[in-house]
Amino acid sequence: MQSVQWIKKPEPTSYTAALFDFDGTISLIREGWQPIMYGYFVEVLKETPRAEKEQELQAVVQEFVDRLTGQQTIYQCIQLAEEVQARGGEPQDPLDYKKEYNHRLLRHIQDRVQGLQEGRIARDELLVPGVEAVLSDMYQGGLQLYLASGTDEEYVIAEAQALAVDKYFNGGIFGALDDYRRFSKAMVIQDRILPKIGSSKEFIGFGDGFVEIENVQNAGGLAVGVASDEANRSGIDRWKQKRLLEAGAHCIIADFRCWPQLRQELWGGNEHAVFHV
Ligand SMILES: [Mg+2]
Repeated sequence: MQSVQWIKKPEPTSYTAALFDFDGTISLIREGWQPIMYGYFVEVLKETPRAEKEQELQAVVQEFVDRLTGQQTIYQCIQLAEEVQARGGEPQDPLDYKKEYNHRLLRHIQDRVQGLQEGRIARDELLVPGVEAVLSDMYQGGLQLYLASGTDEEYVIAEAQALAVDKYFNGGIFGALDDYRRFSKAMVIQDRILPKIGSSKEFIGFGDGFVEIENVQNAGGLAVGVASDEANRSGIDRWKQKRLLEAGAHCIIADFRCWPQLRQELWGGNEHAVFHV
């Protein structure tokens, strides 16, 4: 069993609400999205009048895409438009960049979603290991569960359904909207979660991205960084681990197979204090 790496360990407490990121935290359906975005963005920048060499463009793109991961995709596209302008090009509407990226990514993941829907692919193959036990455990324990993703809401809902995990999110499933100012993970925390709980200490968040870990931590919740190695479905992704530590994660896990240990440590082994029902 993988262990839990603690940075700041809280006193055992009762949790009433949990927030989950989707891609890389629950779902592996979009595993491999980064090379698709890098490739497309470099292609766009190569066409600008003052484009650097391809290798330099690669580094520029990788830096800002990685930095903005976890926020809605549109922010990466807004940055792309700014980079086009900075190189003397005429940028498109960032929403158009997003549409083209979604189009390319969907080609890549369509087979996975269909495979799940038709039963050709087992759900376990496209779930972060152990996550369903956590969702089911918390759901049965009476927690309010929320899902918030930077991916467009319609896709998050469809993919959560394909993985049959949508039923656990009694607090709601939230994703990016075309009017991108109407959604952020911080807004879900501030507007949906915190008003419903007695204290921010009752709130726990799980994510593999910088943004959600920072948001949970800032809101006073317990932030669990999931440094999942999505391609291998085992072990720690060192780059994610570093970013999650920078974002202020209270602990790091590789995936959810360590749930028995994490559960024990969060609640101090007192099963009666585990959940408010
Ligand atoms: Mg993620």
